[in-house]
Amino acid sequence: EDLQYNYKLLKIRSNKNGKEWVNKKFEWSDKIYEVLKGKFKFDDFRQKQLAAINSTLSNKDVLLLMPTSGGKSLVYQLTAYISKGLTIVVSPLISLIEDQLRALKKIGIDAASVNANTSKEERKYIHNEMTNPNSKLKLLYVTPEWVAKSKQFMTYLQKCFDKNLLARIVIDEVHCCSTWGHDFRPDYNHLSLFKNMFAGVPIIGLTATATMNILIDIQKMLGLEDAVIITAPFNRPNLFYKVVNKPSEKSECTKLLTKWLSNKYKGKSGIIYTSTVKETEDISAELRKNGIKSKFYHAQMDANDRKTVQERWMDNHYQVIVATIAFGMGIDKPDVRFVIHYCTPKSLESFYQESGRAGRDGQPADCILMFSLNDYLRTSSMTSNKIEEANTKHILQYCLEQTKCRRALIADHFEDTWRQTDCAKMCDHCSQDSKPVSNYNITEPALDLIKIIEFANSKEIKVTLNKLINAWFQSGNKEIRPPNITKPKCTKQMGEYIIGYLIYKEYFVVEKGFTLYTTVGYIQRGNKKINNTTKILMPSKEIINYPISTTTEIQEVIIITEETESDKPPTKKQKLDCS
Ligand code: ADP
Ligand code: MG
Ligand code: ZN
Repeated sequence: EDLQYNYKLLKIRSNKNGKEWVNKKFEWSDKIYEVLKGKFKFDDFRQKQLAAINSTLSNKDVLLLMPTSGGKSLVYQLTAYISKGLTIVVSPLISLIEDQLRALKKIGIDAASVNANTSKEERKYIHNEMTNPNSKLKLLYVTPEWVAKSKQFMTYLQKCFDKNLLARIVIDEVHCCSTWGHDFRPDYNHLSLFKNMFAGVPIIGLTATATMNILIDIQKMLGLEDAVIITAPFNRPNLFYKVVNKPSEKSECTKLLTKWLSNKYKGKSGIIYTSTVKETEDISAELRKNGIKSKFYHAQMDANDRKTVQERWMDNHYQVIVATIAFGMGIDKPDVRFVIHYCTPKSLESFYQESGRAGRDGQPADCILMFSLNDYLRTSSMTSNKIEEANTKHILQYCLEQTKCRRALIADHFEDTWRQTDCAKMCDHCSQDSKPVSNYNITEPALDLIKIIEFANSKEIKVTLNKLINAWFQSGNKEIRPPNITKPKCTKQMGEYIIGYLIYKEYFVVEKGFTLYTTVGYIQRGNKKINNTTKILMPSKEIINYPISTTTEIQEVIIITEETESDKPPTKKQKLDCS
């Protein structure tokens, strides 16, 4: 409840603050417009930029949540430029810092960076500037690792503060503070020092992905309970979201990718995300065989190679990068026309973040998630705590939901306010050619699947998806095939979909298991009971051979009866009655 309460509070606060900080005229109002036009060459502020700038210049702490490309950098660059003293920017990636330094240099704002790679002389120069009242240096970028590691740096920062020269502290990618986030970094813990150490110095936290849970966590950790929270809408109207079924054969997947890359995306730039290093190399090699200019990218490559690959993609020498999530933070290519998730992402946050690298220029772009239940089970089996489990569950919902707008599902997750019209037919469920959805009664197959699971369990065998599917379709290992189950009236792919849906609705659960080489997800019964009076309705766009339910408004009906009835298998007649 605590969380619920906080969440409401935050929501109220962030709504109110947005407007309050935009409409008023401040003593610096003329100045900031002058700098915006003269120095940064932009015509106008975006609303949330203005709100953030006005609140930080009023010496408030600020948490600014804005989607990628929203324009977060301007907020602290401009305020740093017009403030007396030095602004410290904590930023997690050196490549990202270098991009910023380059951009600032172009417009003539003095900035530097200090981190593990900085030479001794350079460091000395910077330390000097930190305590020099006449310094021209406006921004100093540091990595969180450096804050955590370098006592010397912290000493100078203290001196800078003591001399009244510390203007502001900026923490980029501030969600890395929170273990709820998809990018948790222990070094961010050290940043909790700032609030007490540098009393009165305003802090700005910036992020593109934070749910309310994460936000509350950040506030607690950094001591930012009184921060002004400014959230920009998360909707990216030019991105088309869709989920496609991933073929079970690798060769079929390659074919599909090749088809996309050489037709719809011919001559267009994009990213394919997958989960393992080996897969990035394999897929890329296959695509190259098919004449696609593709290259892989992952964290095991050395820094120079990574840089080259990134640059050659930036200048369109490569059409597509097949990458692990190591490829991402700080990539600022405007004309990315597609981001394909070849594997199930770990969370909706990471999906939103990764797919959000598409269409930064505002032109239409596609975010495609290739879904297979096997991938999901793998992702799910690799989770190591409740938070991660919950995160994968959200992805399953995103993939299997057949009626709700994909955007609405994302917005729900980020607690964003939402109107149905916001999608403007820019997702596979809302689009023009979307097929109608029917509710199928899948109680009968659900009961058969349970029979298989329990039959196998009685022989001390746990079932993987493949085993379960095979037994259900009456092939494979005879040992786990119970007598008298009905052969499914659908394709294997639809069978998988049904099992996925039963996991999503918690009739089944994924149980983690370990083999010598890998983790596996076994399918087990969940807490939700199924009995002969349960009616499980599954919405689907594909036509399946199970009875269609005519009750349209209810998707799922569970009728609770006396316990004695519940475990009897249904009779043939009852099964037919279900429709
Ligand atoms: P973020 O850090 O939020 O991902 P950036 O700060 O990198 O986004 O900005 C994204 C893009 O938006 C940049 O190309 C920047 O030049 C542009 N931009 C920022 N503010 C404005 C503005 N007020 N008007 C027009 N373009 C802007
Ligand atoms: Mg940024
Ligand atoms: Zn939609």
